[in-house]
Amino acid sequence: MSSANRVECMNTGNPPCYNGLGVNRQMIKFHRYPLGPLQTNCYIAEAETGECLIFDPGEEAAKVAGEIEKLNLRPTAIYLTHAHFDHIGAVEDLRTRYGIPVHLHSAEQEWLGDPMLNGSGRYADLPDIRTDAPDRLIGEDGQRTDGHFEFSTFHVPGHSPGSVAFYFEREGVLVGGDALFRMSIGRTDLPGGDHETLLSSIREKLFALPEGTEVLPGHMDPTSIGDEKRLNPFFRG
Ligand SMILES: [Zn+2]
Ligand SMILES: [Zn+2]
Repeated sequence: MSSANRVECMNTGNPPCYNGLGVNRQMIKFHRYPLGPLQTNCYIAEAETGECLIFDPGEEAAKVAGEIEKLNLRPTAIYLTHAHFDHIGAVEDLRTRYGIPVHLHSAEQEWLGDPMLNGSGRYADLPDIRTDAPDRLIGEDGQRTDGHFEFSTFHVPGHSPGSVAFYFEREGVLVGGDALFRMSIGRTDLPGGDHETLLSSIREKLFALPEGTEVLPGHMDPTSIGDEKRLNPFFRG
């Protein structure tokens, strides 16, 4: 089975979860869409109510909107793991189309409007990306509720100063951005990047999560916290 299918089907077939009151607690389903020339992973988190969150719509707004329509979902917010150009190219289209807020860490609040910071201005063959500021800023680590979604945010600087990972504890899923990849980690040679900071972010925050946690990264295939603790060459020995 392809990893894309694994993500799509991750929560199907599980028995429904019940809390102590006997009320059905809904599970979230994650869909993965690699978009644009860098095949940046956009994730749509789907609640059983049909509400959805959009993570990192990097490009191809029409394709994302088409998938949302196909699944008959109602987007309620956009969350960004960080503001590099390959993660934000479809933000403005989708924000306007659905009239939904964009959430980004406060350390990168200027980046959506600044092509040199978001990196789009550094490559001659890329159009400059300059969009409105984020509607909501992510600050301190902690739990949050957004409609039917419950998750925690972790500030994981190093790849970029405002990198954030989103942890869905009940589902055992981490939307991790460009911090931790399968057998690799994010690059640290872009503005505000720092290798040692990235290593400690991963060690202290991500490796503290249960080993079975599925990591949905910003590029390439999903992995797990346990696999990366054991096998990732940046952390072995
Ligand atoms: Zn990045
Ligand atoms: Zn990226």
